[in-house]
Amino acid sequence: MKITRLLIANRGEIALRIMRTAKEMGITTIAVFSEADRKSPHVQFADEAYCLGPAPSSQSYLKGEDIIQLCVAKKIDAIHPGYGFLSENATFRRKVESAGIIFIGPSATAMDIMGDKISAKQAVKKFNVPLVPGLDEAITDVAYAKSVAKEIGYPVLIKASAGGGGKGMRIVEEESELESQMQRAVSEAINAFGDGSVFVEKYVTSPRHIEIQVLADSHGNCVYLFERECSVQRRHQKVIEEAPSAILTPEIRKKMGEAAVNVCKSCNYTNAGTVEFIVDANLNFYFLEMNTRLQVEHPVSEMITGKDLVQEQILIAEGEPLRFRQEDLVINGHALEVRVYAEDPANNFLPDIGTLSVYQRPQGNGIRVDDGFEEGMEIPIYYDPMIAKLITHANTRTHAIEKMIRAIDEYQIVGIQTTLPFCKFVLRHPAFVSGMFDTHFVNKHFQPSFLKDELSEAEAQVAALIANEVFSSETASARSSNSKNIPASKSNWKKNRVR
Ligand code: ADP
Ligand code: ADP
Ligand code: MG
Repeated sequence: MKITRLLIANRGEIALRIMRTAKEMGITTIAVFSEADRKSPHVQFADEAYCLGPAPSSQSYLKGEDIIQLCVAKKIDAIHPGYGFLSENATFRRKVESAGIIFIGPSATAMDIMGDKISAKQAVKKFNVPLVPGLDEAITDVAYAKSVAKEIGYPVLIKASAGGGGKGMRIVEEESELESQMQRAVSEAINAFGDGSVFVEKYVTSPRHIEIQVLADSHGNCVYLFERECSVQRRHQKVIEEAPSAILTPEIRKKMGEAAVNVCKSCNYTNAGTVEFIVDANLNFYFLEMNTRLQVEHPVSEMITGKDLVQEQILIAEGEPLRFRQEDLVINGHALEVRVYAEDPANNFLPDIGTLSVYQRPQGNGIRVDDGFEEGMEIPIYYDPMIAKLITHANTRTHAIEKMIRAIDEYQIVGIQTTLPFCKFVLRHPAFVSGMFDTHFVNKHFQPSFLKDELSEAEAQVAALIANEVFSSETASARSSNSKNIPASKSNWKKNRVR
């Protein structure tokens, strides 16, 4: 069935990104928004827009029933949930279907199986997908947990089955800590997810997080669109992603891709999804979880495959068969993404709020900016503090890195601290450049003082140039030529930092 009117049950950059593709496909786009987002670009861009309620998500973007009623009243035939909010909510998905509306995503059953890390492990095990050594059942008994931990060897990780967004995980280094850490994990899981089920698995030392993008249609066809390397993380959450990974061989890439396709088979998966793996120092890979939605970092896969993942999602939801086979897919060049968060990297990445008094995007060949703000806007405190995703694409990894550093220098954000200077630090670090890094990159290599040092270096240079300018101010021409000599990178880079 052709979709003609599409509601995007989300906000910010991802709502805009979805609408752009929908418009290209001749589909009418319908935005929803909270009172805090009334002036947001996603509201302006849509063909129609409806207010859901006050700023808190629970009173707006999470009001599934209201969204469904709106679809019925306005004759909307499909909902795209984006990521976060209702995107992985199987109850919502069931209600959407009962109301006769197309949900752009997998079935509720697939969401149920993959939404819970324990049931996901049980399902994929039958399809010979490698799992991290450990349990695939919930534990309550401390003595049993101890015996399992002893068998797999410390350190172990206690994880919430319902966990997400990097929350609900505890590392246990030795047996004496197990009981207290387990208690903490259970109470954290109850608080965060309303479900206290936890399990134990081996804590992989020197791990890399590598995930596979998949697409599956409703006719039994399933392909993988290669990997994304997401090992640069803070608080178990990604900040820099790239495709392809610098370390995979074609053989391991194929094995991981085929394992991801098996994960899809284990739950009759349809639409776009991501299978996350943890990879150890010997390139052994283990299934972590499946995210049953479009992922934040999907653009890097789009850049290297030339596919529009949202377009494919819509066509699959319309019942179309995939238009390409595995053999048709090839990797073209290298793509990087940095997440621009309103966070202060010099202050433990704490969210920073304020107004974007200056906001100018970088431009040029191979640069893509997916964002949801304009200059002069405030970053609301109610939602995820991501301002933008900056993506570069080039022939080689080295060129993609060079392009990214240039783009970061060109990005002008004043009024809010962002993760941009931190990302630049990472991109220039020998460990990142060499490709030999793991999920501990930030803890191992980063100290907030590095940014301060660099700032004072930049400030010193600017001060020197200004001094120079003052000395040579006898003639106006000397002044103007000197001001042109201020290195753009330093002056812009400093602007990124200045409130
Ligand atoms: P991705 O792998 O796509 O980057 P993330 O884990 O960063 O996924 O989450 C994507 C979005 O979903 C973010 O906005 C994050 O805040 C939100 N999110 C993910 N899991 C949860 C959860 N369990 N509870 C609340 N928000 C979540
Ligand atoms: P979430 O649902 O919060 O995304 P994941 O299972 O995907 O949870 O894990 C998030 C991150 O935590 C991973 O990207 C990885 O950095 C780390 N992690 C998870 N499991 C392990 C493990 N067994 N060993 C080491 N690190 C792990
Ligand atoms: Mg994950």
